[in-house]
Parts: sequence; C-alpha cells; structure tokens
Amino acid sequence: MARRNRYSLARVRGNYTYTVEEVAKLYGIASHTVFRWIRDEGLKRLPGFKKYYVHSSDLRRFLQRLNTRNKKPCGANEIYCCKCRVPRKPSMDTLQAKNLPNGTIRVKAKCGECGTGQFKVVSGRDWSEIHPLFPNKNAPAIEHSGGNGWPRNCQTSEGD
Ligand SMILES: [Zn+2]
Repeated sequence: MARRNRYSLARVRGNYTYTVEEVAKLYGIASHTVFRWIRDEGLKRLPGFKKYYVHSSDLRRFLQRLNTRNKKPCGANEIYCCKCRVPRKPSMDTLQAKNLPNGTIRVKAKCGECGTGQFKVVSGRDWSEIHPLFPNKNAPAIEHSGGNGWPRNCQTSEGD
C-alpha cells in the first residue's frame, strides 16, 4: 500500500510560478506557513521580485522533502510502533510470522516499549533464521485473542 503523502505533488502544476497565496490555497494552509517555508525552511523564492514567487519545480522539490523528513527508517530488528511513533524493538517472545501468498512475510509482535501491537512486512528474500525478527521456535505460542490490538495500519506522519 502506498503511503499517503501529506502534500500531494500531483497538485503542483508542471511549469508555473506561484504566489504565496496560491501555494497556501493549493493545500488549504495559511499564507504565513508558506512564508515560513521560504524564510526558515529553505523553499526557494524567485530572485529579483519584491513579492514572493515560487516556481513549481522548487515547490515540488521542497514538498518532497517535507513529505519524507518525518519518516524514520526501521532497522531490520525494529518495527514501527504506532503508539510510540518511532521504530521500536519488539519484545522477542511475542513475535509471530506468517507467510503471505505473495511471498512476503508478515511479522507481528508487541512493542518492547509500550506493548502495542505492531506489524511489519518482510520480503521473502530477506527471511531466514538469521533475520533478527525470526521467531524463536522455543518461544511460547501466542493465543489469538481475536481482533483487538493489531492495528492494520497507522498514520506515520505527525498530526498538525
Ligand atoms: Zn510502542
């Protein structure tokens, strides 16, 4: 499943010079947010104008960076925790792995920090007994409680 970007680049026109107000309207945000992007966060304005203009190519590059900067990559031994909002090492005795029909492995576990259900999909290619999330065969079997506690997905971007 594709991760939804906070700022869809599809909305930015191909070759176009935006005013600050137009950029704000594009994403339903305040003009002062766009001014802050220009002043403090490195969004380029076109030089030589008193008024602030932003070219679509600079805007696209900037938004791409905004869309990705809050994503924290998981280490191979970590799973993103929706509650902690960072990758966490799972508690190892809660690990369960399931082979999916498409050849990937779905690993479920509970966050070692807060106990919230986590899951991660691992490519079948990377899956073996030496994978850090490979369940220990001697670990106690987990009872299926039927439902609760395993979020299907979560927002990984920060809420505003
Ligand atoms: Zn957690």
